[in-house]
Amino acid sequence: SMRVVAIDGPAGTGKSTVSGKLASRIGAHMLDTGAMYRAATLAVLRAGVRPDGDEVGDIVDAADIRLTVGGDDAGDTQVFLDGEDVSREIRTDEVTAAVSAVSANPRVREKLVELQRAHADDAYLVVEGRDIGTVVFPDAALKVFLTATPEARAERRHRQNLAAGRESILSEVLDSVNRRDHLDSTRAVSPLRAADDAVLVDTSDMTLEQVIDRLAELVAE
Ligand code: C5P
Repeated sequence: SMRVVAIDGPAGTGKSTVSGKLASRIGAHMLDTGAMYRAATLAVLRAGVRPDGDEVGDIVDAADIRLTVGGDDAGDTQVFLDGEDVSREIRTDEVTAAVSAVSANPRVREKLVELQRAHADDAYLVVEGRDIGTVVFPDAALKVFLTATPEARAERRHRQNLAAGRESILSEVLDSVNRRDHLDSTRAVSPLRAADDAVLVDTSDMTLEQVIDRLAELVAE
């Protein structure tokens, strides 16, 4: 789709912030697909079943997951699970610890990929996730893969946590980032990886402004 900019990469590369600001710069909306997997995970945790259990497919199938398409101007993404605003609850450590297991379920991915594609029907979108350029929108107008060292990524997540008033210990954030990267890039379905035609951008030593300028340049090319 020529109406999609795909931004993939591991946790803590600044993907969400970058995607929101880029969207507002180029007059698009931003779709945070990680928020969908987090909402699915919350549904599983609330049902009291194991995140890698057999019941996960049925539970997520039955869940009503809706997202507002956020962005700098549109505000942060709001996420609704069965009509309830769960935008804050999907960011807890419990959800973060279970999300990779739920995301490895093929039925979960099938449902959420369909939802993601439906969003692009009527909007110009910056879509951020793990498999957007490889699976969800393989014909995106531009594909970017953001990278950064694990240390730089943990540091960013840690600062975000503190800014949001969440408790945070840097060494634990680093462990969690490394663990999630490993699970996300070794799973059987749609593992985290750069598409062959993605532009790699290492953000370790770049400021937010520099990253957005670089991506806006790529969009304009
Ligand atoms: O980006 P965020 O950290 O919110 O993503 C949470 C998790 O959702 C990731 O660690 C990954 O397991 C899963 N995810 C995915 N595919 C996507 C987006 C997120 O599997 N497109």
